[in-house]
Amino acid sequence: MSRRPLLAANWKMFKTVSESKDYIDIFCELIKDVTDRDILIAPSFVCLPEMVSMLQGTNVQVGAQNMYFEEKGAFTGEVSGPMLLDIGVKTVILGHSERRHIFKEDDELINKKIVAALGYGITPIFCIGETLQERENGQTGDVLKRQLHVGLQGVAAVENVIVAYEPVWAIGTGKTATLEQIEDAHVLVRKEIAQLAGEDIAQSVRILYGGSVKPANVKDIMTLEDVDGALVGGASLEPESFSKIVRFEQN
Ligand code: PEP
Repeated sequence: MSRRPLLAANWKMFKTVSESKDYIDIFCELIKDVTDRDILIAPSFVCLPEMVSMLQGTNVQVGAQNMYFEEKGAFTGEVSGPMLLDIGVKTVILGHSERRHIFKEDDELINKKIVAALGYGITPIFCIGETLQERENGQTGDVLKRQLHVGLQGVAAVENVIVAYEPVWAIGTGKTATLEQIEDAHVLVRKEIAQLAGEDIAQSVRILYGGSVKPANVKDIMTLEDVDGALVGGASLEPESFSKIVRFEQN
Protein backbone atom coordinates (compact mmCIF):
# COMPACT_ATOMS: atom_id res chain seq x y z
CA MET A 1 0.00 0.00 0.00
CA SER A 2 1.33 3.40 -0.83
CA ARG A 3 1.02 5.95 1.91
CA ARG A 4 1.28 9.65 1.10
CA PRO A 5 4.33 11.14 2.84
CA LEU A 6 3.77 13.83 5.47
CA LEU A 7 6.43 16.33 6.43
CA ALA A 8 5.37 18.13 9.58
CA ALA A 9 7.08 21.04 11.31
CA ASN A 10 6.79 21.43 15.07
CA TRP A 11 7.75 25.01 15.85
CA LYS A 12 7.45 24.47 19.61
CA MET A 13 7.64 27.80 21.52
CA PHE A 14 9.45 29.59 18.70
CA LYS A 15 8.28 32.37 16.37
CA THR A 16 6.03 35.35 16.98
CA VAL A 17 3.19 36.11 14.59
CA SER A 18 5.37 38.52 12.60
CA GLU A 19 8.24 36.02 12.43
CA SER A 20 5.85 33.36 11.21
CA LYS A 21 4.59 35.69 8.46
CA ASP A 22 8.14 36.31 7.24
CA TYR A 23 8.79 32.57 7.22
CA ILE A 24 5.62 31.72 5.30
CA ASP A 25 6.36 34.28 2.57
CA ILE A 26 9.68 32.57 1.84
CA PHE A 27 8.65 28.97 2.50
CA CYS A 28 5.54 28.96 0.29
CA GLU A 29 7.58 30.19 -2.64
CA LEU A 30 10.16 27.42 -2.12
CA ILE A 31 7.68 24.54 -2.04
CA LYS A 32 4.80 25.78 -4.17
CA ASP A 33 5.33 23.12 -6.86
CA VAL A 34 5.30 20.18 -4.40
CA THR A 35 2.08 18.20 -4.87
CA ASP A 36 2.92 14.57 -4.12
CA ARG A 37 3.19 14.84 -0.34
CA ASP A 38 1.52 16.56 2.60
CA ILE A 39 3.18 19.48 4.34
CA LEU A 40 2.07 20.74 7.74
CA ILE A 41 3.29 23.43 10.14
CA ALA A 42 2.35 23.47 13.82
CA PRO A 43 3.09 26.94 15.24
CA SER A 44 2.18 28.23 18.70
CA PHE A 45 -1.50 28.79 19.47
CA VAL A 46 -1.26 32.58 19.03
CA CYS A 47 -0.04 32.19 15.44
CA LEU A 48 -2.76 29.75 14.39
CA PRO A 49 -5.51 32.12 13.10
CA GLU A 50 -3.04 34.20 11.06
CA MET A 51 -1.32 31.09 9.70
CA VAL A 52 -4.62 29.49 8.68
CA SER A 53 -5.57 32.61 6.79
CA MET A 54 -2.12 33.02 5.17
CA LEU A 55 -1.97 29.39 4.06
CA GLN A 56 -5.48 29.11 2.69
CA GLY A 57 -5.37 27.76 -0.86
CA THR A 58 -1.71 26.68 -0.57
CA ASN A 59 -0.22 23.19 -0.29
CA VAL A 60 0.64 23.75 3.39
CA GLN A 61 -1.67 22.72 6.22
CA VAL A 62 -1.71 24.09 9.75
CA GLY A 63 -1.75 22.03 12.95
CA ALA A 64 -1.80 22.75 16.67
CA GLN A 65 0.82 21.51 19.12
CA ASN A 66 -1.62 20.47 21.84
CA MET A 67 -5.28 20.37 22.83
CA TYR A 68 -7.22 19.68 26.02
CA PHE A 69 -9.81 16.89 26.01
CA GLU A 70 -12.68 18.79 27.62
CA GLU A 71 -15.04 20.69 25.37
CA LYS A 72 -15.19 23.80 27.57
CA GLY A 73 -14.98 24.83 31.21
CA ALA A 74 -12.76 26.17 33.96
CA PHE A 75 -9.42 24.94 32.61
CA THR A 76 -7.23 28.01 32.71
CA GLY A 77 -4.64 28.13 29.96
CA GLU A 78 -6.07 25.25 27.95
CA VAL A 79 -7.41 25.16 24.39
CA SER A 80 -10.25 22.87 23.27
CA GLY A 81 -10.98 20.94 20.09
CA PRO A 82 -13.97 23.13 19.17
CA MET A 83 -11.72 26.22 19.50
CA LEU A 84 -9.28 24.70 17.01
CA LEU A 85 -12.02 23.66 14.61
CA ASP A 86 -13.58 27.12 14.79
CA ILE A 87 -10.43 28.66 13.30
CA GLY A 88 -9.96 25.90 10.73
CA VAL A 89 -7.33 23.72 12.43
CA LYS A 90 -7.93 20.02 11.83
CA THR A 91 -4.69 18.39 13.00
CA VAL A 92 -3.08 18.35 16.44
CA ILE A 93 0.17 16.97 17.82
CA LEU A 94 -0.56 14.97 20.99
CA GLY A 95 1.74 13.23 23.45
CA HIS A 96 4.89 15.02 22.32
CA SER A 97 7.80 14.04 24.56
CA GLU A 98 8.09 17.62 25.83
CA ARG A 99 4.44 17.41 26.94
CA ARG A 100 5.11 14.02 28.53
CA HIS A 101 8.35 14.92 30.29
CA ILE A 102 8.19 18.65 31.07
CA PHE A 103 4.43 18.90 31.63
CA LYS A 104 4.05 15.39 33.08
CA GLU A 105 1.37 14.20 30.69
CA ASP A 106 0.81 10.47 31.07
CA ASP A 107 -0.52 7.80 28.71
CA GLU A 108 -4.02 8.05 30.19
CA LEU A 109 -4.27 11.82 29.66
CA ILE A 110 -2.91 11.50 26.13
CA ASN A 111 -5.52 8.80 25.45
CA LYS A 112 -8.31 11.15 26.55
CA LYS A 113 -6.95 13.83 24.22
CA ILE A 114 -6.72 11.41 21.28
CA VAL A 115 -10.27 10.17 21.81
CA ALA A 116 -11.53 13.76 22.11
CA ALA A 117 -9.66 14.96 19.00
CA LEU A 118 -11.04 12.10 16.89
CA GLY A 119 -14.52 12.80 18.24
CA TYR A 120 -14.25 16.33 16.84
CA GLY A 121 -12.91 15.10 13.52
CA ILE A 122 -9.42 16.43 14.33
CA THR A 123 -6.52 14.22 13.23
CA PRO A 124 -4.08 13.49 16.06
CA ILE A 125 -0.38 13.12 15.37
CA PHE A 126 0.21 10.76 18.27
CA CYS A 127 3.83 10.86 19.48
CA ILE A 128 5.47 7.92 21.18
CA GLY A 129 9.06 7.11 21.99
CA GLU A 130 11.46 5.70 24.55
CA THR A 131 13.96 7.55 26.73
CA LEU A 132 17.69 6.77 26.53
CA GLN A 133 17.50 4.85 29.77
CA GLU A 134 14.60 2.76 28.52
CA ARG A 135 16.53 1.97 25.33
CA GLU A 136 19.68 1.07 27.26
CA ASN A 137 17.62 -1.19 29.53
CA GLY A 138 16.24 -3.02 26.51
CA GLN A 139 12.72 -1.71 27.17
CA THR A 140 12.09 0.09 23.86
CA GLY A 141 9.59 -2.47 22.55
CA ASP A 142 7.64 -2.65 25.80
CA VAL A 143 7.48 1.13 26.12
CA LEU A 144 6.24 1.63 22.56
CA LYS A 145 3.65 -1.13 22.99
CA ARG A 146 2.40 0.36 26.26
CA GLN A 147 2.18 3.88 24.82
CA LEU A 148 0.27 2.57 21.79
CA HIS A 149 -2.10 0.32 23.73
CA VAL A 150 -3.01 2.90 26.38
CA GLY A 151 -2.97 5.85 23.96
CA LEU A 152 -5.33 4.12 21.53
CA GLN A 153 -7.64 2.57 24.12
CA GLY A 154 -11.27 2.99 23.07
CA VAL A 155 -10.27 4.38 19.68
CA ALA A 156 -12.55 2.88 17.05
CA ALA A 157 -11.06 4.68 14.05
CA VAL A 158 -7.34 3.99 14.33
CA GLU A 159 -7.12 4.68 10.59
CA ASN A 160 -7.61 8.38 11.40
CA VAL A 161 -4.55 8.54 13.63
CA ILE A 162 -1.05 9.47 12.50
CA VAL A 163 1.69 8.04 14.70
CA ALA A 164 5.06 9.72 15.20
CA TYR A 165 7.89 7.59 16.55
CA GLU A 166 10.24 10.00 18.30
CA PRO A 167 12.97 8.49 20.49
CA VAL A 168 13.27 11.00 23.32
CA TRP A 169 17.07 10.85 23.24
CA ALA A 170 17.10 11.98 19.60
CA ILE A 171 14.83 15.03 19.99
CA GLY A 172 16.68 18.32 19.82
CA THR A 173 19.97 16.59 20.61
CA GLY A 174 21.47 16.28 17.14
CA LYS A 175 21.55 12.49 17.70
CA THR A 176 19.57 10.67 15.03
CA ALA A 177 18.62 7.06 15.54
CA THR A 178 20.36 4.72 13.12
CA LEU A 179 18.39 3.60 10.06
CA GLU A 180 18.17 0.15 11.59
CA GLN A 181 16.83 1.48 14.90
CA ILE A 182 14.25 3.57 13.05
CA GLU A 183 13.07 0.75 10.79
CA ASP A 184 12.91 -1.74 13.70
CA ALA A 185 10.77 0.64 15.74
CA HIS A 186 8.47 1.43 12.82
CA VAL A 187 7.98 -2.26 12.01
CA LEU A 188 7.15 -2.92 15.66
CA VAL A 189 4.69 -0.02 15.75
CA ARG A 190 2.94 -1.20 12.60
CA LYS A 191 2.70 -4.73 14.01
CA GLU A 192 1.12 -3.43 17.19
CA ILE A 193 -1.37 -1.36 15.22
CA ALA A 194 -2.22 -4.51 13.26
CA GLN A 195 -2.90 -6.30 16.55
CA LEU A 196 -5.13 -3.48 17.71
CA ALA A 197 -6.96 -2.61 14.51
CA GLY A 198 -6.19 -5.25 11.89
CA GLU A 199 -3.63 -5.56 9.11
CA ASP A 200 -5.44 -3.38 6.54
CA ILE A 201 -5.64 -0.42 8.89
CA ALA A 202 -2.04 -0.94 10.01
CA GLN A 203 -0.95 -0.76 6.38
CA SER A 204 -2.81 2.51 5.88
CA VAL A 205 -1.67 4.35 9.04
CA ARG A 206 1.15 6.81 8.49
CA ILE A 207 4.08 6.48 10.88
CA LEU A 208 6.40 9.48 10.98
CA TYR A 209 9.92 9.54 12.37
CA GLY A 210 11.06 12.44 14.52
CA GLY A 211 14.39 13.17 16.18
CA SER A 212 16.99 15.53 14.71
CA VAL A 213 15.76 15.12 11.13
CA LYS A 214 17.60 17.53 8.84
CA PRO A 215 18.41 17.91 5.14
CA ALA A 216 21.54 15.78 5.59
CA ASN A 217 19.64 12.70 6.79
CA VAL A 218 16.07 12.99 5.50
CA LYS A 219 16.68 11.26 2.17
CA ASP A 220 18.07 8.11 3.79
CA ILE A 221 15.37 8.04 6.46
CA MET A 222 12.65 8.38 3.83
CA THR A 223 13.96 5.35 1.94
CA LEU A 224 12.88 3.11 4.84
CA GLU A 225 9.83 1.05 3.95
CA ASP A 226 7.83 1.80 7.08
CA VAL A 227 8.69 5.49 7.42
CA ASP A 228 5.94 7.65 5.98
CA GLY A 229 7.27 11.08 6.79
CA ALA A 230 8.95 13.16 9.44
CA LEU A 231 8.07 15.34 12.39
CA VAL A 232 10.73 18.03 12.49
CA GLY A 233 11.61 20.47 15.27
CA GLY A 234 14.86 22.43 15.04
CA ALA A 235 15.48 22.03 11.32
CA SER A 236 11.98 23.28 10.50
CA LEU A 237 12.63 26.74 11.92
CA GLU A 238 14.35 28.06 8.80
CA PRO A 239 12.31 28.01 5.57
CA GLU A 240 15.27 26.94 3.42
CA SER A 241 16.10 24.01 5.65
CA PHE A 242 12.48 22.80 6.00
CA SER A 243 11.92 23.15 2.25
CA LYS A 244 14.90 20.84 1.66
CA ILE A 245 13.45 18.34 4.10
CA VAL A 246 10.10 18.51 2.30
CA ARG A 247 11.92 17.72 -0.95
CA PHE A 248 14.19 15.05 0.64
CA GLU A 249 17.07 17.18 -0.62
CA GLN A 250 20.41 16.63 1.04
CA ASN A 251 21.97 20.02 0.37
C1 PEP B 1 10.22 17.36 17.67
O1 PEP B 1 10.09 18.40 18.30
O2 PEP B 1 9.23 16.63 17.49
C2 PEP B 1 11.54 17.02 17.14
C3 PEP B 1 11.70 15.87 16.53
O3 PEP B 1 12.53 17.93 17.32
P1 PEP B 1 14.00 17.92 16.60
O4 PEP B 1 13.75 17.75 15.14
O5 PEP B 1 14.57 19.27 16.94
O6 PEP B 1 14.75 16.79 17.18
